[in-house]
Amino acid sequence: MSNGSAAHLVDHGIEPAVLEAGPTAGAAVQEWAHLLLFSTWGEAIDPAAEKLLAPTGWTTPDEGTYPSGGEWAEKYLQPLADVLGERVRTGARVTGVSRVGRDRIVDADREAQPFVVHVTRTDGVEERLFARAVIDASGTWATPGPAGGSGLPALGERAAADHVTYRVPDLKDPAVRARYAGRRTAVIGSGASAFTALAYLADLAKADDGTGTKAVWILRRGLSGSTFGGGSADQLPARGALGLAAKAAVDDGHADAVTGFRTEAIERDADGRLVLVAEDGRRLENVDEVIVLTGFRPDLSFLSEIRLGLDDRLQAPAELAPLIDPNQHSCGTVYPHGHRELAHPEQGIYLVGMKSYGRAPTFLAMTGYEQVPSITAALAGDTEAADRVELTLPKPEYAEAPASSTPPKPTRTAEAAAPVQLTAPTATAPDAKVEESAEGGCCDA
Ligand SMILES: Cc1cc2nc3c(=O)[nH]c(=O)nc-3n(C[C@H](O)[C@H](O)[C@H](O)COP(=O)(O)OP(=O)(O)OC[C@H]3O[C@@H](n4cnc5c(N)ncnc54)[C@H](O)[C@@H]3O)c2cc1C
Repeated sequence: MSNGSAAHLVDHGIEPAVLEAGPTAGAAVQEWAHLLLFSTWGEAIDPAAEKLLAPTGWTTPDEGTYPSGGEWAEKYLQPLADVLGERVRTGARVTGVSRVGRDRIVDADREAQPFVVHVTRTDGVEERLFARAVIDASGTWATPGPAGGSGLPALGERAAADHVTYRVPDLKDPAVRARYAGRRTAVIGSGASAFTALAYLADLAKADDGTGTKAVWILRRGLSGSTFGGGSADQLPARGALGLAAKAAVDDGHADAVTGFRTEAIERDADGRLVLVAEDGRRLENVDEVIVLTGFRPDLSFLSEIRLGLDDRLQAPAELAPLIDPNQHSCGTVYPHGHRELAHPEQGIYLVGMKSYGRAPTFLAMTGYEQVPSITAALAGDTEAADRVELTLPKPEYAEAPASSTPPKPTRTAEAAAPVQLTAPTATAPDAKVEESAEGGCCDA
């Protein structure tokens, strides 16, 4: 979202500086390069960015096809950064944001002071930059949730780090494949990433070099109609197919679902294999690997001097939180929102993109492509344009997944279902009520 924000600011004649901690644009996306998006190219490109890219001879990939994370970064995010040129600085990690000469307490002339942004470059050199506004689009990829059922790392989780990962493994990588082949792997979480991991492990179990591969799916809740997402009724077919693939993995015996299991500790047995211990004392023995996919949290540490207005539960902007609460909403029922819902007591700073959703697992890039024009118009002083927010989002539609027919693999082409038009606000009928805060939701990556 950072380069998209910069593209819009340039459109408004405002000069942006984009600071990316990673070595390339889309550095976080590159870390899940092996995963397919469940959005098509048409849903993964910001129209304003497309306008900026067109004069360079860049052409929009086939809109109905699905990019992998790697393709999205290489064929879209990087070319966009290239167009922005020196405005984009990679290897520049933001370590602090504040008001010049004013810490969080000080009121005097606060709003008249520019922001000071502390940056550490990859060569270790520290810098201070000054800005009249800050758009934090730093995502949540770097701060995944832990295995612990209470939201804390389970006892022994860190000590077991050599057998615990917080990413969907790339089983096309021979070294990674060898780590899981023929092994018993616990998968913790119930969002799109957990579905993907279960499907990948089931494929490995069916492969010649994967005999004996087994997954144990750890769920804090029970299995219900909504556990596997929208299935074939999902208006993002590739997202629906992920849930169906997970269901097939369970139905075909490649994954055992263990429900109501809140991991409290990860221990090692005499052979060095892992034992997951639940709060109710249940013990899951003989585990070789653990894949933790329990969602993400925002890193707020470098914003400690800023007066943010965040919701206690979601750590999302207070106005936005009720609209995205996974206990009430799926990603398809979030109504359009912009600068007003994303504002904070501190003027001139906004969290956008994945980070604006805090711990809510329902962010879609299309939402970010609506947030950004509103915020940049507001920063340009064009309130009328800033208030014009429209969002077209495909709904997941929880439906009973068809009984154990082999799930259709997400094809690289799909007929995009007719998006549901939502204009602010409509009374949204709650989707399937989720008992507990989702440990990942329909769009939880
Ligand atoms: C596996 C996965 C699959 C997804 N699939 C889809 C999908 O199919 N469709 C969809 O609509 N959405 C999807 N999403 C959700 C979302 O659209 C993406 O995560 C998207 O990349 C979010 O964009 P962002 O700019 O908010 O954050 P990111 O893409 O995470 O970008 C944040 C950037 O900020 C940088 N950064 C972090 N901290 C700092 C710092 N302190 N200083 C400087 N730079 C920093 C990071 O290196 C990163 O490059 C998916 C997410 C994941 C994780």
